[in-house]
Amino acid sequence: MSASDDTTHRELRELLGSFALGHLDGPEAARVRAHLDGCAQCRAEADDLLPLADRLSLVDPRAFGDVPAPPPALGENVRLAVARARADRDADEVGRRRTEALARRRRGMVRGLAAAAVVVVALGVGGVVGRTTAPEPPQPPLEAISLEVAQGDAVSVDSADLVAHTWGVELRIVADGFAAGETFHAAFRTDDGELVPAGEFLGVGGETMTCFLQSASLREDVTQVVVTDDAGRTVLSSDL
Ligand SMILES: [Zn+2]
Repeated sequence: MSASDDTTHRELRELLGSFALGHLDGPEAARVRAHLDGCAQCRAEADDLLPLADRLSLVDPRAFGDVPAPPPALGENVRLAVARARADRDADEVGRRRTEALARRRRGMVRGLAAAAVVVVALGVGGVVGRTTAPEPPQPPLEAISLEVAQGDAVSVDSADLVAHTWGVELRIVADGFAAGETFHAAFRTDDGELVPAGEFLGVGGETMTCFLQSASLREDVTQVVVTDDAGRTVLSSDL
């Protein structure tokens, strides 16, 4: 193939499409035809194109101006389908979680029943043991003290005791006449002079009340019990 033949080949090859569709004018079509006679490559290409061109010629170009519009509800339908799929997936997820939760609850119930059975057994055994061999719970020894009521105060003390616990000292008062609704503060004075709080209680007026007031100070370290009202006035006191 000469250089000029090569140029002709490249030039005419680009026209093969138009030639196949019959869009070339007479002289151009003649040139292509002449080239096809001498160029096997272009002939092969033209053989491929011509059947396609035949089929293309059957297509009505006017049809292209008339592409059917998507149905108006398409967007909405797609949106609904997506929403439905998502809802299904979420429902699956909810269902799965619910099943899991149910299984967990069942497991919990079984465990609870098992635990309850253990407690019942323990209580049963404890009951038997309690009646036969358990020692009486030790009663802490009470140390009666005498509380001095401030002059003119309505408080009346039925009993006052100290209990020397290992963890601190406790004041037990049975009394009445503490002004209803008023807060009272109990404290122990330790041997280094410090006043250590032992708790507070509300007065209930004429009703008898029993109060356990506790402090971390040890019995042997306390030298005085003091109960004061909100104003800081001493209502009860006892030197130990
Ligand atoms: Zn060619």
